Amino acid sequence: MEAKINELKKEFLKQLNQVVSETELFDLEKKYLGRKSEFNEILKNLKNLSPEDRRVVGPLANATKNEIAQLIADKRLEFSGSSDLEKEKIDVTLPGTRRAVGHLNPISLVRAEIEDIFTRMGFEIADGPEVETEFYNFDALNIPKDHPARDMQDTFWLSAKTRTDADVTRKDAERLSMRSQTSAVQARYMQKHKPPFRIIAPGKVFRNEATDATHEHTFYQFEALVVGEKVNVGNLKHIAEVFFSEFFQADVKVRLRPSYFPFTEPSFEFDISCTMCGGIGCKGCRGGGWLELGGAGMVNQNVFVAAGYPRNKYQGFAWGFGFERLAMMKYKIDDIRLFHSGDLRFVRQF
Ligand SMILES: [Zn+2]
Repeated sequence: MEAKINELKKEFLKQLNQVVSETELFDLEKKYLGRKSEFNEILKNLKNLSPEDRRVVGPLANATKNEIAQLIADKRLEFSGSSDLEKEKIDVTLPGTRRAVGHLNPISLVRAEIEDIFTRMGFEIADGPEVETEFYNFDALNIPKDHPARDMQDTFWLSAKTRTDADVTRKDAERLSMRSQTSAVQARYMQKHKPPFRIIAPGKVFRNEATDATHEHTFYQFEALVVGEKVNVGNLKHIAEVFFSEFFQADVKVRLRPSYFPFTEPSFEFDISCTMCGGIGCKGCRGGGWLELGGAGMVNQNVFVAAGYPRNKYQGFAWGFGFERLAMMKYKIDDIRLFHSGDLRFVRQF
């Protein structure tokens, strides 16, 4: 039996040397180690041997079998060209893959700076949901039922299907929309707080409009709301001048022009002196010396009433300005679409 095993091994080695392809190697493996191989027969017959013979033949047969298996494995590696070690080798001297690291968007930088300036002036930062009920986004702001701002063209209304049962059964659940202005925070805050107070409400707003260099469907605003028994237009102008002078690090003047908004009375278009020329007149301000910033005014008494305050007890002022517009002025950015482009080359400049 021992002789037979040694004979098999010798024969195997001879044939192994003649193998030239992986297919041949596979056949050889089958022949020597397969279920029907002579080797398997020997192993199977071990139990018929005498205990003495088994003690000698058993270990020899197993050792030989392992040796053959190892030789076949080695040969296979020769064919596959490289060993596992070779494949997994890491050249630590190779340059690595550099990952692109993010950077704060100029809108985030501007927001942080605005919040910083206002908290130093004693303002509180208020917050509200981006999906808003028709009440807070329109009714509470004295916007008439037939006002064009409520149209499909201006507001992203959420379809009834996207509303959950909880929304529908809520008392104030009229139609839901993506809020079109941060002013929606006004009534929410006033319902829970008693004047006097001063807040800003920064956040995202949504308008159903086509985008171009100066318009985005999603942008950021910050609402300011100051309410007390003796708040007046002079306070509005003063706080705005202090804020813009700090923000632009320049001596900024504020100009109010009469205008109309449903939620303020009186209402103003709000201009600041040109931050590039200081008001003398340049290309940036088209020679006029002023830059238009947005709307402001004294809170309409109907807005106070909608929030549950008595009529004519309090006065307040409010404004809503866009972060993008301010960031564009501060950093001289000429296309609003860059803010949401996700292009690191853009954000890294700030
Ligand atoms: Zn100018």
